[in-house]
Parts: sequence; C-alpha cells; structure tokens
Amino acid sequence: MPLYDYRCQKCETVFEARHAFSESAPPCPACGSANVQRLITSAPAQMKGMSANAGSSRSASKEELRSKWSEETPKLRDQLVSKLGEDTVRKNAPSLFSE
Ligand SMILES: [Zn+2]
Repeated sequence: MPLYDYRCQKCETVFEARHAFSESAPPCPACGSANVQRLITSAPAQMKGMSANAGSSRSASKEELRSKWSEETPKLRDQLVSKLGEDTVRKNAPSLFSE
C-alpha cells in the first residue's frame, strides 16, 4: 500500500498514513479532525506504474534466470568437478546433479 503525507488543516500536524488508493484520508492523529489535506506528491502514481512494470519485468527476468541457470549449471558442475572431484561436489552440491 502506498504511503501518503497529510497535513491537518486544523492543527497543522503533518503525518503519514498508509492506506489503499481508493480509501479516503484518515483523521488527524493529533486532534482527530477529518479536515486533512493530502500533500502534493506524485509518488503514489509513480509507485503504481513502477510496481506494475517491475511485476512484469520480474517474471520475465525470472524466466531468463531459470534458463540461464539451467544453461550454466552443467558448466559450473564441470568446473567444480575438475577442481574438487566429483564425490565432493555430489556431497556438497547435490542439486547440480539433479537434472
Ligand atoms: Zn489535527
């Protein structure tokens, strides 16, 4: 949920409140007045757009990562086997052999 900044019109208290975009402003925590003004910030809109983009690019990069990983695993395994010997690698990194 986005974080909003508010200023109470009555007692001038500035406070932060985290709530859904569709929800209305919470009352002032200092005096309880409902007469609060959201401070002008474009952060919620930006965050909304950013999280939407991040969501789609995250799943894309996850796929990339997975294919990269399956590509790299045999190489890594071979490297480790040539350095440490197969028994040691099997014992310490059995997932490298799980294909
Ligand atoms: Zn107040």
